[in-house]
Amino acid sequence: MSFHSVFDLGAIRSEFQAAGISPQFIPSIWKYVLQNPKSEAHGTPSLPSSAYPILISKFRSMTSTLESAVESKDGITTKLLVKLQNGSFVEAVIMKYDPSLGTYDGKPRTGSQRSTVCISSQVGCKMGCKFCATGSMGFKSNLSSGEIVEQLVHALSFSRIRNVVFMGMGEPLNNYSAVVEAIQIMTKVPFQLSPKKITVSTVGIIHNINKLHDDLPNVNLAISLHAPVQDIRCRIMPAARAFPLERLIDALQVYQTKSQQKIFIEYIMLDGVNDEEQHAHQLGKLLGTLQVVVNLIPFNPIGSLSTFTTITEQSTMRFQKILRSIYNIRITAHQQMVQDISGAGGQLVNLSEQRYFGEASLSTDIEDLNI
Ligand code: SF4
Repeated sequence: MSFHSVFDLGAIRSEFQAAGISPQFIPSIWKYVLQNPKSEAHGTPSLPSSAYPILISKFRSMTSTLESAVESKDGITTKLLVKLQNGSFVEAVIMKYDPSLGTYDGKPRTGSQRSTVCISSQVGCKMGCKFCATGSMGFKSNLSSGEIVEQLVHALSFSRIRNVVFMGMGEPLNNYSAVVEAIQIMTKVPFQLSPKKITVSTVGIIHNINKLHDDLPNVNLAISLHAPVQDIRCRIMPAARAFPLERLIDALQVYQTKSQQKIFIEYIMLDGVNDEEQHAHQLGKLLGTLQVVVNLIPFNPIGSLSTFTTITEQSTMRFQKILRSIYNIRITAHQQMVQDISGAGGQLVNLSEQRYFGEASLSTDIEDLNI
């Protein structure tokens, strides 16, 4: 028998509503579960008596279990393998930020210690991006909002999480209602994350980008662009055929006018495919009307996915220089901080099952960008 996660807001709210129980009790249940990780939700004190049989028969505090946690040698990243109730696995990666380590833009890092968790929204993905290991798995299932929030709960047992990025397995905007609900939960008591510290990354599902600002104001939007023109995009991201670049840019302009926020652009550098000088110029022109931060990600070949090759640092520098000096675009260069746990940008790998984690992870600490 399967249970709902107590973090499935829609499920618990409708069960409570049917029983005449006020939804105002729900945050106190979540708070209890977070503070008492070994207890079930029905241990929450002071609920209406009719809430207890509902919690006992239909809900579990956590429907997923933490199968393993692998820490990188430098201790900066920890990859969590999470087993869902249906037996599928997803991964979440915690990236710790320590201002005493490294620099940003040539200057010492600022701020306090904090962590970002990179979260999955689907098991597999139907978008089929050629450079992404998750794309080769095909689509298996959508996560519920509770299963998405549970990844944050697992991560909180390792580190104080301040930022959440939806850049794990799956296309978040293909599981729109669950992702929206999960983010709404994350910004409420007891999690209380700032929406400004949550980033949703998409290949560009236009009809859902059009709704995003109204449903999730202040949340950051990242676009996995990866090509400056439609034909290259379709070659490496087959799903892009349904979302022409011109229409995507129009949608981003409308989004930016409403949100007044910078948009992150993810661009994986593939040798001989999208990394030439002409591509940098095309990209600069394409993004000319938008306020963006471009994240250049070196491709990291894994196993059978090595149809593509990594570009040299010199090529990245050349590309970066064109965007910066000619088009005045803000760039961040990727740091492969999770490589030693097979989690480098683009293809985080489940070591035990050889399942793959998809979206390129946002490499630079989001708070460095002051967006
Ligand atoms: S890059 Fe993202 S959208 Fe593309 S296949 Fe991978 S997980 Fe899906």
